[in-house]
Amino acid sequence: PTDINKLADEYLRLAYHGLRAKDKSFNATLETNFDETIGKIEVIPQDMGRVILNLITNAFYATNELKNSTVNSEFKPTVSVTTERIPSLEPASGKGVTNEEKASKGSVIISVKDNGKGIPKEMLHKIFQPFFTTKPTGEGTGLGLSMSYDIVKAHGGELKVLSKEGEGTEFIIILPNSD
Ligand code: ADP
Ligand code: MG
Repeated sequence: PTDINKLADEYLRLAYHGLRAKDKSFNATLETNFDETIGKIEVIPQDMGRVILNLITNAFYATNELKNSTVNSEFKPTVSVTTERIPSLEPASGKGVTNEEKASKGSVIISVKDNGKGIPKEMLHKIFQPFFTTKPTGEGTGLGLSMSYDIVKAHGGELKVLSKEGEGTEFIIILPNSD
């Protein structure tokens, strides 16, 4: 049983300070919005921590890449981490349990969102493939998302991406939660 808010907060700070130590010009605004009703959920903390670290590192990278290439001096790199508990649905009274309600077990959502360069539509289907990277040699292995996907799947969850070029990217981890 793991406090997922605490885990996310720890790895967010770890990623931020790690990147700052490596590159003094690196900066980003961190936003967090943690749902305090989540409680503890069953995960392998090292593995889920690694997923969160991967997503946050990618988000920081994407915002700083945009910062270094944009002419807009007002641009503020921002990374937001949000958690939310989705309770399981109560069956509608007198109707029995419908299939939809059976499918709607409780879950916990962890979202990592950035206002970085975004991912081109035609690239979206490739990003979870092992060794796919757009980073210069030595900076990316292309294994982060592939591993993250496998870890989330092994937890019975889903890893989804929403992205728009020029606007940013959001990765969403959906974990089952028997609340
Ligand atoms: P790596 O970070 O080593 O390149 P990943 O598997 O973590 O490998 O990511 C694969 C590719 O997906 C990245 O090189 C990048 O092109 C794209 N990507 C991942 N996350 C983001 C993001 N938040 N914003 C923009 N592009 C992203
Ligand atoms: Mg990565």
